[in-house]
This record gives sequence, structure tokens and C-alpha cells, in this order.
Amino acid sequence: MALSLGGRKAPAPVLFDKVLIANRGEIALRILRACRELGIRTVAVFSEADAEAKYVKLADESICIGPAPSAQSYLNVPALIAAAEVTDAQAIHPGYGFLSENADFSEKVEKSGFVFIGPKADTIRLMGDKVSAKNAMKKAGVPVVPGSDGALPDDSREVTRIARAIGYPVIIKAAGGGGGRGMRVVHSEGALINAVTLTRGEALAAFGNGTVYMEKFLEQPRHIEIQVLADQHGSAIYLGERDCSMQRRHQKIIEEAPAPDIPPKLIDKIGLRCAEACKKIGYRGAGTFEFLYQDGEFYFIEMNTRVQVEHPVTELITGVDIVQEQIKIAANFPLSIRQKDVMKRGHAIECRINAEDPNTFVPSPGRITSWHPPGGPGVRVDSHVYSGYFVPPNYDSLVAKLLTHGATREQAIARMRIALSELIIEGIKTNAPLHRELMDDAAFVRGGFSIHYLEERMAKLAERGKP
Ligand code: ADP
Repeated sequence: MALSLGGRKAPAPVLFDKVLIANRGEIALRILRACRELGIRTVAVFSEADAEAKYVKLADESICIGPAPSAQSYLNVPALIAAAEVTDAQAIHPGYGFLSENADFSEKVEKSGFVFIGPKADTIRLMGDKVSAKNAMKKAGVPVVPGSDGALPDDSREVTRIARAIGYPVIIKAAGGGGGRGMRVVHSEGALINAVTLTRGEALAAFGNGTVYMEKFLEQPRHIEIQVLADQHGSAIYLGERDCSMQRRHQKIIEEAPAPDIPPKLIDKIGLRCAEACKKIGYRGAGTFEFLYQDGEFYFIEMNTRVQVEHPVTELITGVDIVQEQIKIAANFPLSIRQKDVMKRGHAIECRINAEDPNTFVPSPGRITSWHPPGGPGVRVDSHVYSGYFVPPNYDSLVAKLLTHGATREQAIARMRIALSELIIEGIKTNAPLHRELMDDAAFVRGGFSIHYLEERMAKLAERGKP
């Protein structure tokens, strides 16, 4: 079928023959599965530490791109482009982490004649700087956290005036920050200027960009995010929200959808704004708008211009395959679903199973001697591991995503309890015991806790455990 463009017939979009997966671990396998279902051949790239990985064997072709350290392999742009060239891949899927939000990479990929499965480099750049992202969102009608109008000036008196106008506590944040770094909370005027100077210095050292800005510090927010999809034909939709408030050091460990006790009307209102914002900035692909939510209000904090770890939560309740949509959008297909056809069914929860000590959170790489994933109704396991698999110490500690889906939140939790009780991973330590505890935790079972809940809970337990 041909698409009609201004009266002329445009050629119908054609899917790629071959996609290179520029990532590793569970997301490499997830992308591989999406490609296979679409009839696309795959190229896996791997570092020397990942030669034995399951997706490397399952891929149609695989190429070693360097030694274990990411800087020499998964972040090695020339090696990735060369791998696409020698295998004749047409497009590159960056997954999450690594180069997925690197505008220079996306630009190089496209300049080398390949399709980058993600937004245009300019969009990644716009949303990658938190000051420009916030400004763009404000302009597009998305509510943001009250704060300084862009970067903080050098003049101390002016900085003090801005903080007074916002009201304490405030948070000083680095424009180029990420991964929960480059932020400092200030509770009173006496500590302000010193905090700004320190954050500036750290930001310059860590991100090569000393620009900082100021926001009102929200004391008990929840982390609520909106999943969007936008095609290259001017359509954009939102696939509802995810509640990712169970965090430690700004790292999410449990995500769920829908968010407990947030009126669907509020979600629809903010979701629509996000979809409209996508159209205004010419967004392409899958993306996530992250918000802090407090007292019935949403405050935009940042946008992730890539697929997220927790995307399956949304897939379970909407039935939309987000990774396949990403690939089809990149190949210039229109979205396969319209907003009014997005249905949400039941409730889904994801527990991130990490190779780490459940109490100290110290990473626990090593050989998995025994792996028995759970199953049964409403259970999904996204994982690249197997019995005998060696978890390398070089990368992220995520070994499996355990998801359950139920008609109600209670059923999803009940299924998660059973799934966690069936899960066996031996040879390494994992945080599965923590997830088992949390499934019976009164605040979790009630739902609607703030992003500080897990750390406060841990602090209380540590206090009680003291002699
Ligand atoms: P990063 O890119 O480093 O993840 P974010 O801007 O997304 O930075 O913020 C990370 C986390 O910091 C948020 O999830 C939240 O826990 C906390 N945070 C950021 N801004 C605020 C704020 N204005 N008030 C309270 N907490 C905040």
C-alpha cells in the first residue's frame, strides 16, 4: 500500500533486512527477539567478556568489537560502525545505556549511511542538556519543577534572590548531569553559595560543563513517567504511565503500571501534553518523559530519548511491542496504533534482579551455577543468563527482569510473590531476597510511597539492627 503525501504517492516503507544491535545483556536479547519476529536478520556485537553470551549465539552474525572494558568495546564508535559496514547492516539499535543517548554517535551512524534506531541527533542534544530540555518542555506546555530561568548567574546576590523567590529547600543541579550525580540539596540561605560553588566545580570535573541551575526541592515526590511513541509522519501517542518510585541512590528497582491512586484523568492530561510536545520538537521513536509527582501535580525532570529498562511493564498492560515499534518507526512506517485504540488491561510489576549483595548492594559478579526462572500465568522473564553463565564484572549488574501481570494490582503482587519463590539463581548473590521482602512490605502493598521510601526503610532497619 502506498502512502499519500501531498497528493503524490510516496513509496511504501520497507523494513530493514539486517539490524546491528549495539548493546549487550538482556536488552541485546530483547532487541534480537523483536527483530526475529519482524523477519529481520541480526548482527550481535560483543566484547571479549561476552563471547559466550546467548544472544551472540542466536544472532545471524556476530562480531567481536574489542576487549572487556566498555570504553574499548561497547563505547568504541569506529569499531561499531566498522561492524555495521562489514556485515551490511542497514540500521543500528543502541538499546539503553552505552551510546544510546549520545548525539555524536547517532550523527556518525547516519553520516555513515546507516539508520539510527532512535531520535535525530539534534533532538538527543536538545533533551540531553537539562537546561535546554526544561526550556523546550516549558515552551511545549509540559509542567516543569519551579526553578531558575535556565542557568544560574555568577552573581551571588542574584543567586540568593532566585533561591528566595523559589523558597527553601532548593536543589542545585548540573545541566550536563546524569545517573543521579551532580545534585545538591540546600535547606537554608547560609549554605547556598557554598553549595552552588561546589556543584559547579564537580560538574565541570565530571561532565566538562560547569553550568548549574536551581529547582525547588520536592520533599515527598513519586517518580511517575510517561511512555511515548512518535513516528516520522507527525503522529505521536502516549502509552500510559509507570510508577518507578522504589529506588535506591536514584536507581530504580521496582516499576509498575498503572501508578496506584493517580486518577486516570490526570494521567491522560499529562500524557496528551507529552504526545503534543513530541510533535512540537519533531520527536522520532520511543521516549520517556520523567516526572516527579506530588500533591496531584506533575513536574518534568528529564526525558530519556531511548528504550528504557522498564518498558515491558507498559508492554504487558497495553499489548504494544515497544521495541518493534521503534524499529518500524526508524524504517519510516507510521505508528501501528492510534491513541484511541490504546487499551490498558490489568496491572504489571517489574522486579530488577541484580547481581549484588541484597544488604550492602556490592556487585556480585561470577559464575551462575544454577538458574531456574519461574513461569506460569502472567509471568514474563527477560534475561540473557543460563546455568553456567559467567556474569562479567565489567558492566551493569542487571541479570534478569522478572515481570508479572494480573487483572488487579493484588493479583500482580500475588503472582510476583510466587514467581520470586520459584526463582533460583545460585553461584552469585542477587537482590531477590530484598524483592521477596518488599512484596510483603506494608507500604509497597498499599502503594503510592515516595522515592525516598526504600532508603528510609533501610535506614530504619539498620538502626534497629544496631547493638
Ligand atoms: P539524573 O539524570 O541524574 O537521573 P534527574 O534530574 O532525573 O537526574 O534526577 C534524578 C533524581 O533526583 C530524581 O529521580 C529525584 O529522585 C531526584 N530529584 C531531582 N530533582 C529533584 C527535585 N527538584 N526535587 C526532589 N528530588 C529531585
